[in-house]
Formats: sequence, structure tokens, C-alpha cells
Amino acid sequence: MSSFLFQNGAVINGAGDPVQTCSVLVEKDRITELGPQADARAMQLPGVQRLDLSGKTLMPGLIDAHCHLSFDDASSNPEIFFQRRNALSAITALYNARKLLRAGVTGMLDPDSVFENMVDVRDALEAGLMQGPRIACGCYALITGVGGTAGGLIRDAGVTGYYKVVNGRDEIVAEVRRQVKVGADWIKVHVSGIAPRYAHLGEQCSWLQDELDLICHVAHDLGVPVMGHCRGDVANRRAALAGVDLIFHATGMSADTTGLLIERKIPVCPAMTFQANMIDFGADLGTDPALVKLFEREIIDSAENMQRLHRAGVPLLCGSEAGFSMVPYGHWHYREMEVFMKYFGMSALQAIQCATQSGAIALRMAGQTGEIAAGMKADLLVVGGDPSLDIGLLGRSQAIEGVWVDGKPMDLSPPLPRRPIRGWSLPSMGKRLTNPHVLDA
Ligand SMILES: [Zn+2]
Repeated sequence: MSSFLFQNGAVINGAGDPVQTCSVLVEKDRITELGPQADARAMQLPGVQRLDLSGKTLMPGLIDAHCHLSFDDASSNPEIFFQRRNALSAITALYNARKLLRAGVTGMLDPDSVFENMVDVRDALEAGLMQGPRIACGCYALITGVGGTAGGLIRDAGVTGYYKVVNGRDEIVAEVRRQVKVGADWIKVHVSGIAPRYAHLGEQCSWLQDELDLICHVAHDLGVPVMGHCRGDVANRRAALAGVDLIFHATGMSADTTGLLIERKIPVCPAMTFQANMIDFGADLGTDPALVKLFEREIIDSAENMQRLHRAGVPLLCGSEAGFSMVPYGHWHYREMEVFMKYFGMSALQAIQCATQSGAIALRMAGQTGEIAAGMKADLLVVGGDPSLDIGLLGRSQAIEGVWVDGKPMDLSPPLPRRPIRGWSLPSMGKRLTNPHVLDA
């Protein structure tokens, strides 16, 4: 294993500190020294590779705290639920993992996957079979009979796609324990869901307080944290009271519930890139304007709460929701930082801190990666230019010049060109065909 001395580069340390120019030494899998000590120690080490980063920036690799690597840029839930196959979606995930590296992502949390096969993808990457970012993952997302966000598509019991229905206390206990045995890093709970008849009310909390308490009790007893998808005040409040360790979305909260999250310092990953893309590009993609308005409201209405959480020191994590056609792999992992700046008023360095130091929480590696400091894992990114002056650089392939995971330089060459997989996506019949001779209305 090699040692690397990065010299003359601007260093963004991921902890929100001002940019400074200094040397950084990496030995094996870790950052060992910074500044003059790095230069001094490098003199004594045999075979150190020196990299001149003049005009470039060294920063911690991005951590995407909400990425579905098994969905393969699906354009609909039915495609994920009914068209995917187990081995093939795991192989495809490994192919797509390279795209994340090329986008500067060195770590990601996959909340839920089809066939819960992200456990196998993670283990394959950890064993070095392929290159990819560090992965932490959940198994199936737990839901009640009310369902998640896919309404009537979800079966009344058992598994549909990335969901599993648990009915009653016995099933909750058994499923949490099974997921821990299978290898979940986190237990994922879809705390809020939509019943089609009541869709106008938005997402409703679909669990009783004592059911959520039970999930957290069983998971925590085994040392495994719980993450909850929460929209709406009741969902967020009950999740916080139950002791959930990470909340996705956290929209629709009252001031009181926001206060509860602050009191308990529960990290939040708003994952609003999907909505932001719809706001900026929905019109071009033919998205229903009413839906665009709805998503815009979701971001704007939650801005005040998010600012309050951030000011109070609650970690906000960046998540892209990649895995859907609106947020394809490799394209938008940096984008949440733009959302945090534009809608929540953060500086570029604060937004970068969310995507690096705070992101380490998602990997269950807080204080071990996501920062440039002695003793941290060498999960690093070299950027051409200075992203603290232009955050958009992190969304440009040309600017991502080097990526290190666990002290190893990653191969950033383009993945092999790919052709369609048979039966993989749902064919569309296209637009409605009207007969000009028929009076339709
Ligand atoms: Zn998601």
C-alpha cells in the first residue's frame, strides 16, 4: 500500500473551517499528518508519491446519505417492484457504483433495496471484488398495512420491491431481528405513508407510538440504529419520541416538533434534490405543473425549520435520492449542497460540511471519515478549482480529478457503454391516441 503526499493544494477540511493551503500526508488507509509535519514525515518514508495540487482543492469525498443503488435509475415504482431481478440488480448496482466514484462520492447510505441485495453489494465492495464508495445500508423498509408512498401497489403482507409489511408486535420483533442477522447497518422505517383515498391529506403517520417504540427498542438493544422516512408533523414527532437515530425528509413539522428534534439532536437528511430537480427541470420533462408547485412548497415551507435545526447544531446530511430517472447516478450527488445554499442560506463551506463531516453519521463512521484531519480515513477528493467559490464544480465530471477511498486511488475511467437489459423497464405505449372523428367531450 502506498503513501501519498498532497502538496500546494487548497484544503477544505470538511469541518467548516476556512480554506487553507497545506500539505496532507496519507499512509495506508489514513491521513496521518497535515502542514509542515506532513512534509517532514514524508521525507523519512520510502516510496511516497507526491502530488502537486497547485490550483486544485483537496477535500473529503462526498457522502451521499440517501442513494438507492439497486433501483437502476427507474422511472416508476412498478418498474422497481415488478421488473427487477435479484442477481441482475446487484450486478447493475456494482456497475453504477463506479459512476458515484466518478462524481466524487466516497461513501453512501442505501436506505432500502430490492431483494435487500445492497447487503451483498456492500460486502462485495468491502471484499475488494470491485471498486466503489463505502456503503452502509438498510434491508427492506418496514411499513404497516397502510403502506408507503406507492399506495395500492403495495401488497397487504410480505415484500413488495423494497418494502416489507409488518403486522403486529410479533412480526415487528421478528423482522428487526432478521434484518440484523442478515446484515443491516440500519433499520429503515417508512413512518409516513399515503392511502390513495386520503392522498389529499398528504403523507400520514402509519404507525402507533408504541409500535415505533418497539422497533427502536429491539434494534437499539442489538446495537443497530433506526432511520425513519417522515413527512408530516405526527410522523416526525412520533419518530423523535421513539428514539429514531436519523430522519429523512423531516418536512411538515410544527415548531414544537422541530424543538424536539433539536432537544434530541436527531440528524436530518432532507433529501430534496429530487424536488429541486423537478422545480428547475420539470417543465422540460413534461411534469404536471401542479406537482411541481407541490414540491416547491415542500422545500420552501420547510426552510425555516431546517435553518433552525442547523443553527442549533443538529447535523443536516446531504442525500440525492439517486436511483430514479429524475436523479440518475453520477449526475446530482452534489446538488443537495446547492439546495442547502439556495433555500436554507448556507455558505458553500457549511454545505460541504453537511456532505462530508455530517455525512459520516450515515456511514456510522462519525469522527472516522468525512474530514481532513490526522487519524481520519483517507476518503478524499481532488477538485480542479475551488468548490468553496463555485459549488457547481462538484457537479462537473471534468473537475473531479482524483478520488481515494480507504487510502486507495480509484479508477475514474468511464464505465463500459451499456445496452438495454431485456424486460428491465416497463415499455410505455406513449401518449393517448385520439380519433379526430370522435367527440371526446
Ligand atoms: Zn428514498
